[in-house]
Parts: sequence; C-alpha cells; structure tokens
Amino acid sequence: MEENGRVQLKKERKGFCRKLRDWFNWKRRARKQEGKNFIGDNVPVEKDIERVYCSDMVEAKLKNYSMINVIGQGAYGKVLLAESKATKELYALKVIQKNPLKPQKTFDRFRIEKKILETSRNNPFIVKFHSSFETPSKYIFALEYVNGGDLRRYMKKTGKLSEDSVKFYLSEIIVGLNFLHSMGIAHRDLKPENVLLDKDGHIRITDFGLSKIGLNGNKKTRSLCGTPAYLAPEMIGCKGYGFSVDFYALGIIMYEMLTGNEAFVYAREQRRTLCQRLFGKRKTVGITDISEEASAVLKGFLQKNPKKRLGCHPQSGFQQMVSMPFFKAIDWELLKAKKVIPPYKPPLSGRTDISNFNSKFRAQEPILTSESK
Ligand code: ATP
Repeated sequence: MEENGRVQLKKERKGFCRKLRDWFNWKRRARKQEGKNFIGDNVPVEKDIERVYCSDMVEAKLKNYSMINVIGQGAYGKVLLAESKATKELYALKVIQKNPLKPQKTFDRFRIEKKILETSRNNPFIVKFHSSFETPSKYIFALEYVNGGDLRRYMKKTGKLSEDSVKFYLSEIIVGLNFLHSMGIAHRDLKPENVLLDKDGHIRITDFGLSKIGLNGNKKTRSLCGTPAYLAPEMIGCKGYGFSVDFYALGIIMYEMLTGNEAFVYAREQRRTLCQRLFGKRKTVGITDISEEASAVLKGFLQKNPKKRLGCHPQSGFQQMVSMPFFKAIDWELLKAKKVIPPYKPPLSGRTDISNFNSKFRAQEPILTSESK
C-alpha cells in the first residue's frame, strides 16, 4: 500500500511539473506577442508607477474616518469597519498592503479591482464602491459596509440549507455574475466567503482581487488562481478558459449549501500539499436527498466540459439557467429589484453591531495609519 502511495505521488508530481512548465511557456509566448508591459487582454500598464502622493493629504483622508473594528482579513491586508466623521456613514475600509518587491503587480491588482467596483456601482448584488486612496505603504478602498456577515458563516451556523434558500441565494448570485460577465469580467474567486449578506439578507458579491477584465467575445485566459476547492477543471488543466470557471464555482457553492459539507474529499496523502490537492484526483460524495430539479442544476454547473456547462453559452447562458424547472418559482424582475424576501435576516442589535463577523478579527486593534500594518 505504502509503495503504491509513493508511486502515486511521484506520478502526480511529474504531472504537476509538466503542467507548470506548459503554463510558464504559454505565459512567456503570450507576453512576447503582447508586449512586455501588457496585462489582461486590453489593459495597458504604465512602465512606472508615477503617482505622487502628498503624505499630509493621505493622513487627512485617513483622519476623515474613525476606526471601529477589524472585521476581516485576507491574503493582502485587512478590512476595517470605519465611520466617516463628516457624514457618520459607516464604511468597510479594505486595505491592500503594497508589496515593495512587486510594486507594479500590487498596483495592477488595485487598479483592476477599482475598475470593476466602479463598473458595478449600480448592480444591486455587487458590493458598492465609495472611494479609494493610497498611502506610501497601502491602497485603501472605502466600500459599502455589508453588515450581515458572509454566506460561509451563515452556512456554518445553519448546516445544510433548504432548497428554497439555495434557490434564492443562487438566483441573486446568478444576476450579479451575469452582469459581471456581460461587462467582460470573470470573478475567478467565487466562494461563500466572498458572498456577503446585507441587513435584510440580500447578497453582495465582493473581492475582485483575482478577477480578470477584458474577456469579451471568445477571449480566453490561462492563469491558475483562486481557491483550490472551487477551481474548474479547465483552469487546472491549463486549457484556456473564460466565464465558465465562475459557474463551476457556483456549482460547488450549491453543493455545499445543499449538503452542509465540502464538495471534495481527498485521499489522506493528497491533503498534504496544495499541488496534490489541485492536480490529484478529486472525488465528490454523491447526494441522495435532493429533488430532481435541484439535481439537474447541480449536474449542469458541475459539468466538466465547459461547453456543456449550465450558464456558459455566450448568448443563451442566462436564459438557459432561468428556464431550469428548479428556478420556476422565481420572478426574475422582482428578484432584480430586491423585492423577493430573503429566507434569513441576519440578527443585528445596532448599526455598529459586528457579531456577524469572525470573533478572531474582532479582537484585533482597529489601528490604521499611513504606515501601520
Ligand atoms: P482574500 O485573501 O480571501 O482574497 P481579500 O484580502 O481580497 O481576501 P476580501 O475577501 O475582500 O479581502 O475581504 C475579507 C473579508 O472581509 C470578507 O470575507 C468579509 O468577511 C469582510 N469584508 C470584505 N468587504 C466587506 C464589506 N464591504 N462589508 C463587510 N465586510 C466585508
């Protein structure tokens, strides 16, 4: 058995190295064709970051806010709840720490995220952008404060959700995604942590730090990014992909909502490294106690072939989804107007109640200065 295990790992390692090599070669070729200072498909990047900031002004901007609490932490920085001193309005300040070794890369990420947030300002299911500014060590977004916590936290609290609840959350996410896709944006990191709930229980898609813009027409991209458990097979296989990856992630979220469990189980040895989890065999546990209608949608989203996947047809994808029997009861016009009553209203005792956020962040000191970490 042990012998087999080792052989298996060796094989996987070989496969992984080959895939990584293919990906690097592809990236090198693409960069050569596009010119070195090009990212995305049509987003030219300046050679140098030549923005001059006056530190007094930056301090002044930070002093406009009173920091209340830390409410989240991501790979690139933290998120703080803050109150504008002038308007008393609450905001979530998302802080992105600049990487001094890769300033251009951090700037590109900030710029793309900002562009997406600005584009999506009027969509009811995407987090609202208020403003952004930078300090010598960080970029900061002031976003609408969405106070009901995220879908992951709600799922942990409730266990599996009823099919009606699943239908509601999926429908609102589909409307948000459909908007992003129509603007040439693929989210690429859709997961329950990035679906926030507002005070009434409506969703807001957030975190566009890994999103891709410029995916118009049949354009494809190849970067391997996101969260391992939600990655679509075409992304892992370095085959080139478009919006299809978001629908696969939506299928995984649907699975998790219906079962209360993770979608994939890994062999023991596969849990060890990220590479093994990515490129090893993934196994799902079958579900038995769901309706035929829900099962058809789940199978549709989890189709391995993106051409056959539900929602992925460039012209008729949205129509295909809304005409599935599972969504028969949804009035899409009412839903888009946020007039469908959500199945769950997050408990809130006041406007600065942060009990819907993880207590480990809440315990941190809410300090934000132009130089603080
Ligand atoms: P990641 O490493 O997961 O990509 P990130 O650094 O990009 O994280 P976000 O995912 O945007 O940061 O935010 C981290 C967490 O902060 C979220 O899961 C959420 O709990 C909280 N959060 C983010 N934006 C808001 C907001 N507008 N209102 C309330 N909470 C928010």
